[in-house]
Amino acid sequence: MKNEKVLVVGGAGYIGSHMVKDLLDTGYDVITLDDLSAGHRELLSGGEFIEGGLGDTVLLDNLFSTHTISAVMHFAAFSLVGESVEKPLKYYRNNMAATAELLDSMIRHNVKRFIFSSTAAVYGEPVEIPITESHPCNPTNPYGASKIAVERMLKDCDSAYGFKYISLRYFNAAGADKSGKIGERHRNETHLIPLVLEVATDRRENIKIFGANYPTPDGTCIRDYIHVSDLTSAHLLALKSLLSGGDSAVYNLGNNRGYSVREVIELARKVTGKPIPAIEADKRPGDPAILIASSDQIKKTLGWKPEYEDLETIIKTAWKWHQKEASI
Ligand code: UDP
Repeated sequence: MKNEKVLVVGGAGYIGSHMVKDLLDTGYDVITLDDLSAGHRELLSGGEFIEGGLGDTVLLDNLFSTHTISAVMHFAAFSLVGESVEKPLKYYRNNMAATAELLDSMIRHNVKRFIFSSTAAVYGEPVEIPITESHPCNPTNPYGASKIAVERMLKDCDSAYGFKYISLRYFNAAGADKSGKIGERHRNETHLIPLVLEVATDRRENIKIFGANYPTPDGTCIRDYIHVSDLTSAHLLALKSLLSGGDSAVYNLGNNRGYSVREVIELARKVTGKPIPAIEADKRPGDPAILIASSDQIKKTLGWKPEYEDLETIIKTAWKWHQKEASI
């Protein structure tokens, strides 16, 4: 990977900042492009930083003219299901239209390797569990719809321009880098595990359970949680594959195991030793009852091996980070 330079769009965000660290640790050169609307510059472990948006064609053309970029990784999406239902155009504008600008600029500069952060939300309400990559894609919210639209764009760019991409459909990203130096920080936190840990650190009074009469054993939604460093290790494999001439592909990233909202809260109580009061609340619009991944494909094809399969371990890494965050 000597002299391979990777552009990480959205590298100052939660998953992006873990990616930047792992790319640098592996020996790649890194440029981060981030508009800091959701990212935090202090979470960057190194490399070059450019402040700007992924739809800024002047900036992108300048960037691709002045740097030799081997591949682009794209993490700069809005990703809140509930918000996407309320503000669909915000999602289509950033996640879809601005991504089209990024792809267009890449193709103008003959940069044709791309790794895309996609999502389990592309599938919609599952007709089969676990979900494989061939499961039908009928997203139930604008977030998922904006992501599947990009996947379609990528496929069409491959046919038209020989553009090679790997799209990684994440299930529920969680946890923090084992160094304890970086972790999940959102300005308006909406995700279950960080919220639960904010209750454990007395930054919040209770956790609301969004819906207690789903068709699941305890009535609460079931999700497949995957450690952020297992996501980044999959990106490194995807990058290696594309850099060595590999073909375009789409892979799920999850652990093939679901935990209900109540189970997550219970495990967090065990890890933190705190009571973590929980109250039942209304369902959140756009939430499918159960999402569990089959990740057999990426294991078979790229040899991906998750290191943190068990949710208790994942929560422990997040807890280490959140205790530090609470002490700031
Ligand atoms: N959830 C919840 N209370 C919260 C936040 C989330 O009950 O305060 C539930 C949510 O309805 C979903 C699960 O926890 O079933 C995971 O939600 P999260 O927002 O973490 O991730 P998503 O599945 O939306 O990507």
